[in-house]
Amino acid sequence: MHTSRNRGERPVMKRRTFLLGTASGLSVMVLAACGAPSPQPTASVAPTTTPSVVPQPAAMQRTSWSVDPFARGSFSFPAVGATPEHRTALAEPVLDRIFFAGEATAATEPGTVQGARESGRRAATQVQSVATTEERITVIGAGIAGLTAATQLRSAGFTVIVVEARDRVGGRIDTMTKDWPMPIELGPSFIHNTTVNTLDDEFATLGVSTLPFSRVPEAYTRTGEVVPINPVGAEAVAAALAWAGGQPQDVSVERALVDSGENQLSDSLNDQGLSESDWLEYEISTRLKMDSGSTPSQESAWYATAPGTTDDDHLVVGGYANLLKADAEGLDVTMSSVVTFIAYTDSGVSLRLGAGEALSADRVIVTVPLGVLKDGAVEFSPALPFAHRGAIAALGMGVLDKIWLRFDEPFWDTTAPLWTVVGTDSDFPVWVNMLPITGEPVLMGMVAAENAVRLSEVSDEAFLASALRSLEPFRVTE
Ligand SMILES: Cc1cc2nc3c(=O)[nH]c(=O)nc-3n(C[C@H](O)[C@H](O)[C@H](O)COP(=O)(O)OP(=O)(O)OC[C@H]3O[C@@H](n4cnc5c(N)ncnc54)[C@H](O)[C@@H]3O)c2cc1C
Repeated sequence: MHTSRNRGERPVMKRRTFLLGTASGLSVMVLAACGAPSPQPTASVAPTTTPSVVPQPAAMQRTSWSVDPFARGSFSFPAVGATPEHRTALAEPVLDRIFFAGEATAATEPGTVQGARESGRRAATQVQSVATTEERITVIGAGIAGLTAATQLRSAGFTVIVVEARDRVGGRIDTMTKDWPMPIELGPSFIHNTTVNTLDDEFATLGVSTLPFSRVPEAYTRTGEVVPINPVGAEAVAAALAWAGGQPQDVSVERALVDSGENQLSDSLNDQGLSESDWLEYEISTRLKMDSGSTPSQESAWYATAPGTTDDDHLVVGGYANLLKADAEGLDVTMSSVVTFIAYTDSGVSLRLGAGEALSADRVIVTVPLGVLKDGAVEFSPALPFAHRGAIAALGMGVLDKIWLRFDEPFWDTTAPLWTVVGTDSDFPVWVNMLPITGEPVLMGMVAAENAVRLSEVSDEAFLASALRSLEPFRVTE
């Protein structure tokens, strides 16, 4: 294993996004509590474009899900004050004419492909319980939830039209094949919880390759030293969440850490230049923010995802979008059609599209992402019931973005598939090394929460510069 990387090069100033001292932590927490539950884009731009010591890539692809008008974020998360009941409320039919599906409405595994698929099945079953097969059903959105619902209804004998804003199906599932030596995923790459859910079996049936992918990463210091992961940070978060579970009211993860005292970790540096506080930051940046797309000040301590007890993820290497091909086949999908207005009574629904056309249906399944609903990009008339509006406001929309980089030659020498950084406030603290998986010198980096929101505003050049800086610990030095 390599231990002498670019030691001593350009020290990176730490900007603690999470203040760990009790007094200062409290003041930050109060400020954070005033903010909106979902991160909003800011005008600030990555400050430096200093050339990186990491070589320039031969190809790059980035995502900006928070500014994508048909997503407005990456996946829903439990914001402080939001409960699972909000998801159930959003899944309630309105006058048995408007039905909702999509990952944010999923009772189990929200924020995932599996959750979205289940929500599509649930919504289709709700429609089947009240509709006759002579009725015209419209599904808004051709992501996995919409396609699943439409397929189930079509198989049950209904006439179904799917209306999709983009010029492709899949929504947040977005596989790119052109110009890359293998399919790259701009949306989901992983199947979570494969011990329980069946998506990996579906991929196997379709002949699409997936591989077990361990969540246990290699951790690198800023100077490129590989260090064993100190569990003190994960333990502090787990203890803070357990403390919050005993409180009468939900609080943010940040407040739980501060008020439980679990943030009181030592700042003294060991031989590797790392403190216990660094490992708390590590848990926040490489797990909490990546899982939720939100900051600890935004996320509910009651419903934050605890560290996974199973290590059963699969990585989809043969193209996630293949999952949709079978679903989309034979369905009537109207592309490039943005629904802007939904008027409903107890006898039917009419839709207005962005280009001014109108469409009527007996019943409609709305699968647009939570971020689109939160933005009010689709107007309902009459306004949705209070419980639906409350749920839309309460649930959070998190942000996770990716960068894919292809290099002519690898500049790293580790065969570990998952890399993380500790003791530095890298924008991209988590990387997947595709070299041992596909034989190609390709890396996938991830940026989440406020860092993703900030970087969504910057040029490709600045985005790349930030990613390359984050890669410096992995560079082999002679
Ligand atoms: C970067 C990233 C990484 C992720 N990683 C994972 C992962 O590893 N594993 C995992 O399980 N999940 C992951 N997810 C989450 C997963 O992708 C989603 O939960 C899932 O794809 C959502 O499916 P959906 O059908 O609910 O929504 P979508 O796929 O967003 O479908 C909604 C559809 O509605 C359309 N639409 C929006 N507005 C309108 C309108 N006004 N009119 C008409 N159509 C409209 C959209 O274009 C879209 O096609 C990730 C997501 C992102 C962004």
